[in-house]
Amino acid sequence: MAIEKVSIVDTHAHLDMRAFDRDREEVIARAIQAGVGAIITVGIDLKSSRRAVELAERYTGVYAAVGFHPHDASALKSEDMAELADMARHPRVVAIGEIGLDFYRNYSPREAQVQAMERQLELAAGLEMPVIVHCRQAERDILSILGEWLSSHKGARGQALGVVHCFNGTRESVRRYLDMGFCLSVGAYIGYPRSVDIYDAVRDIPEDRLLVETDCPFLSPQVHRGKRNEPSYLPLTIESLAAIRDGSPEQLAARTTTNAQRLFGIKVETGSGVSTQAE
Ligand SMILES: [Zn+2]
Repeated sequence: MAIEKVSIVDTHAHLDMRAFDRDREEVIARAIQAGVGAIITVGIDLKSSRRAVELAERYTGVYAAVGFHPHDASALKSEDMAELADMARHPRVVAIGEIGLDFYRNYSPREAQVQAMERQLELAAGLEMPVIVHCRQAERDILSILGEWLSSHKGARGQALGVVHCFNGTRESVRRYLDMGFCLSVGAYIGYPRSVDIYDAVRDIPEDRLLVETDCPFLSPQVHRGKRNEPSYLPLTIESLAAIRDGSPEQLAARTTTNAQRLFGIKVETGSGVSTQAE
């Protein structure tokens, strides 16, 4: 299913991952078919960030974010920060991410996660780039770290603050993220039966702060559960959102695309989709 004539933006994908090694070209071609006008492929460590930049160089409509995921936080060495900064200055890199805290898995010790997040927030502030934040069972700490970061960089952040990806919080946390100026992004999981618990929070997100993503190859839509997720499934998330918020899919597609363009400073040509021809 394609959303006709309105390009949508997958603001969080992991196209560099091995799950796409077999058929990356076809995956991107299917995304175009489905009306996906831009994809932000997000790094999780130095190697994956490098690959993200390469993909963004190769494919028009693909942009990169560079950063260390909380799972990989303990691998972030001081000398890596310089390379991250170098990569971040590349014209196809549009954000620092993903960064954040994951106190569910705790693959890296909590102190290492906090330190990596704070260092990368400083980097983003210095470069005036938005951040892509991952939060799992760490909302209290994330909110306080972001709050402190904002107060130490008052006024300097403007519109390019960032997004909390795979938002899965409460109405109260929506309010606090919005107050700070963040966007909130949702994926296909909002169509899972148990997500009925977050409908009210999802309805609270104003239209001008809402983004959509796949987080592929993870978190496949309900109808594809158990299989790999990919950007061409993104229209299903627009459909779920429209049902939950009682809105029109076309309008949600248009608004979320406008928001992605504003936050990441990317160009999305209506109806064009991504193409395999580098600029
Ligand atoms: Zn991710």
